[in-house]
Amino acid sequence: MSIATDSRVVNNEQKLAAMRQAGSILAEILSILSKRIKPGMKTKELDTIADREAKKRGVKSSFNGYHGFPANICVSINNEIVHGIPGRRKLEEGDIVSIDYGVIYNGFQADAAITTGVGKISGESKELIDVTKGALEAGIKAACAGAKLGDVSHAIQDYVELQRSGYKVVREYTGHGIGRDMHEEPQIPNFGLPGSGPVLKKGMTLALEPMVNAGDWRTRVGDDQWTVYTYDNSLSAHFEHTIAITDGEPEVLTK
Ligand code: MG
Repeated sequence: MSIATDSRVVNNEQKLAAMRQAGSILAEILSILSKRIKPGMKTKELDTIADREAKKRGVKSSFNGYHGFPANICVSINNEIVHGIPGRRKLEEGDIVSIDYGVIYNGFQADAAITTGVGKISGESKELIDVTKGALEAGIKAACAGAKLGDVSHAIQDYVELQRSGYKVVREYTGHGIGRDMHEEPQIPNFGLPGSGPVLKKGMTLALEPMVNAGDWRTRVGDDQWTVYTYDNSLSAHFEHTIAITDGEPEVLTK
C-alpha cells in the first residue's frame, strides 16, 4: 500500500470521526427540541434553544447565513415542506412540525430532520409521519456499498408511492452528499430507477431526506422566498439522516 493511500485512509477516518461527533451532537439537540415542542410555543423559541445547546456543545449551525438563511434551524409546519423560518408563529395542538438542522464540528457537517406532532394529532397526520420515517429507513437499508444511487432513490419512492396510495415524494428537493460542505455531489432524488446512477462506495457520506406529501408532489415557494409549501396545501412530513457507506449496513451518523 502506498503512502498516498495510507494518508487518504487516515483522512477519511478523521472525516468520519468528526462527522460522527457532529451527528451525535445534532441528534441530541433534535431530541431536546422535540421534547420541548408544545402548543402555544413560538417557533423562534425552538431556534433559541437550538442555538444555546449548540454553543454548549461547541458546534455551529450550518444553516445560519447559508445563502442568507436568517436562522439556526428550519421549522416547517403542516403544509410547509422545508425551509420554514422560525419566528413569531405559535405551534397549535394538532399541528405537525418538521425541524431540519445541520451543524459543523471540526470542519465537518451533519444534517438531519425530524417531524413530530404538537399535542394530540389526527390519525392521518400520524400515518404521514410514519410513512415518511419508514421511507427514510427504506432508503438507508438500500444504501450498501456496491448498490447504485438509483437503488436508494427507488427504495424511497417505492415505499411511499408503490406500496401505499395517497402519498407522493417531493421531486423538486433532494438529498445530497455531505462532508466538508453541507451540500456536495451527488444529488439524491427521492424517486428514481433501480440500477441507475453512480455506484455507492465505502466511505461516501450522504444525507438522505425524503419529503412526503399527503397529496400532490408539486411545491411552491412562499413570499419570504424560503418557505416551501405543498402546491395543494396538503400536509407534508420530512425525515433526514446523515449516513456513511460501509462494507455492510450503512452507518447512521446522526443518531
Ligand atoms: Mg439536508
